[in-house]
Amino acid sequence: MEINILPHNDNNNGWLRILPDLPEAKVLTGEQTFDYAIVGAGYTGLAAARRLAELRPDKAIALVDAGRIGNNAAGRCSGFAIDQAHNIRAKSFADEIENEKTQIRLNRAGQEALRAAIEQHAIDCDWQSIGKIHGAGTEKGQQLLREFTKNLDLLGDTYTFLNKKEMRDITGIDFYREGLHTPGTMQMQPAALVRGLCQTLPENVTVYENSLITNVDYGDHKRLESSSGSLTSKSLILANNSFAAGFGFYQKHVIPLPTYASMTRELTADELSALGGERSWGIIPAHPFGSTVRRLKENRILVRNIYAYSPGHNPTEAQRLWARKKHRNSFLNRFPMLKNVEFEYTWGGTLCLSENGNPIFGELQKDVFASLCHNGVGIARGTICGKLIAEQVAGQDSELLTIMQNAGRPNKTKPQWMMRIGAPINLANRRRQAGLEL
Ligand SMILES: Cc1cc2nc3c(=O)[nH]c(=O)nc-3n(C[C@H](O)[C@H](O)[C@H](O)COP(=O)(O)OP(=O)(O)OC[C@H]3O[C@@H](n4cnc5c(N)ncnc54)[C@H](O)[C@@H]3O)c2cc1C
Repeated sequence: MEINILPHNDNNNGWLRILPDLPEAKVLTGEQTFDYAIVGAGYTGLAAARRLAELRPDKAIALVDAGRIGNNAAGRCSGFAIDQAHNIRAKSFADEIENEKTQIRLNRAGQEALRAAIEQHAIDCDWQSIGKIHGAGTEKGQQLLREFTKNLDLLGDTYTFLNKKEMRDITGIDFYREGLHTPGTMQMQPAALVRGLCQTLPENVTVYENSLITNVDYGDHKRLESSSGSLTSKSLILANNSFAAGFGFYQKHVIPLPTYASMTRELTADELSALGGERSWGIIPAHPFGSTVRRLKENRILVRNIYAYSPGHNPTEAQRLWARKKHRNSFLNRFPMLKNVEFEYTWGGTLCLSENGNPIFGELQKDVFASLCHNGVGIARGTICGKLIAEQVAGQDSELLTIMQNAGRPNKTKPQWMMRIGAPINLANRRRQAGLEL
């Protein structure tokens, strides 16, 4: 079958561009045979490959990706490995408290798997266990922080409020009226993490990059084809986020949602002293449609905001340029002392959401497995679900695996013609509601 939804990533990902040049990619060529094939080398595919290789050291595993590893959503994200899901802010949260505790347990297991790999292989990715700060720049944002703490109280999770002065001491800027710190999040350089995870995979994993799979045959043996080669395996794991829809699964159930980020050039010594504050920090918005902002140890500032609807699953160039203008406004609102500092990179990447927040996990048909749809917290969730799907393939059993196997599945979204009309209106309304938090 021909795959009709294919990923296209531009080369503007600042996280990857500021790393040293990559060695040449190994591309899929000729006719290759493996025991297992994994499509997609983001957090999910990398964790699945690592775990399967550990459990089946005598088997050959192929991990195939359309692009360079680190240039995917995994390496384009904002680099917060979050324990609490985003819907912690939802009004219905209290009704779902037991389920939410389970979600957090899964996310923390994902964080732990990442930490273990980083420590074992000394992966240099600026991994910092510093939690996250939700920053409020408006009174409405402050109200949202207070509502947020009601849910944290229900969970029994700790948090600390930071007043305006404390926020200024951290960030150097006057924008934030208040912050709410929760300790259970790690921050890192995501492209460095993804590359490091890839470079330290066990020896029985062969990684193919720049190998876009355009055809799949679900016969007794699964056959994947790219323009330059093919690969046959007994079992297949789909770890390719919303693009699994192109492989014929859950086509009407996933919502691809591009979001965008910009990174400044390196600040000069004078600009750094005008800014002040700590050397590196990260702020998540109080309003879900506000701006994520990070100061990087490389002396650059990152701004992420804007969600767009893209039925083709990929960010578009027009959206990227539009997002860059929005980023510029958000940057100037926060950093008036850096008004001469331009963005060096602006990029987009696609999240995979489901309407009801449920994931896709398990055996979709004989010997075709999948772990997809991590609803915006894919660093931690993709990692644990990748690890767990490998355990299922290898016939292992665990409590977390049972949780994932019994988790609900995504419901069907509204028909595409309705989404095309409704989604942009809905997103514009939410941006308006975010106001100055954007
Ligand atoms: C700007 C931005 C900021 C974000 N911030 C955060 C954050 O701070 N914290 C967080 O947890 N999450 C964040 N996310 C979400 C996070 O990036 C995703 O949830 C995560 O990357 C999902 O991991 P994954 O491995 O499932 O999929 P992906 O990282 O999307 O990897 C899927 C891979 O499949 C490959 N693929 C698809 N189709 C094919 C094909 N036909 N042939 C070969 N390869 C194929 C793709 O090339 C891709 O590499 C952010 C996302 C973006 C875009």
